[in-house]
Amino acid sequence: MQVQSWYGLPARIAVENELWHLVEVGGVALHHPPVVNLILRRGMPTADRLYLSYLHEFGHLQTLPVAIAHALILTLIVRWRGRKLGDVILNLLAGAIAHEAVWELASEAYVIAKTGPEYRRIYQQAPNLFGQAVFWGGMSTLALLLTAWVMRGK
Ligand SMILES: [Zn+2]
Repeated sequence: MQVQSWYGLPARIAVENELWHLVEVGGVALHHPPVVNLILRRGMPTADRLYLSYLHEFGHLQTLPVAIAHALILTLIVRWRGRKLGDVILNLLAGAIAHEAVWELASEAYVIAKTGPEYRRIYQQAPNLFGQAVFWGGMSTLALLLTAWVMRGK
């Protein structure tokens, strides 16, 4: 499906099946296993799952500026000079995981904003409290703790 983000970046999204999704931006294809969708959409009817998964992938494109802002803040605010290589690598790794977590949260928040009451209806019909708790709790914890940990050395 050909899409365009609100800031003008065109992309192609394919929710090919339940195991692999494709997001292609500017000819660069990003294949990834939709771990988030597997956790969050467990037990959901296929049509709902594919619908929300598609919006989630589009959400990654729509919230890309949020992810870039987070990465910029970490890169610019943290004092990287004079650190040992091992320390830098560890912090970059933590920063990358925090960055992914922030982006996942932003993407799913986009899905909720976009679908509104429909989101609630789908989850009422296929309750998945455990998956939702794991996603929101886990991603928020990773995003906050790791961001704070990387920023401690500013
Ligand atoms: Zn995602």
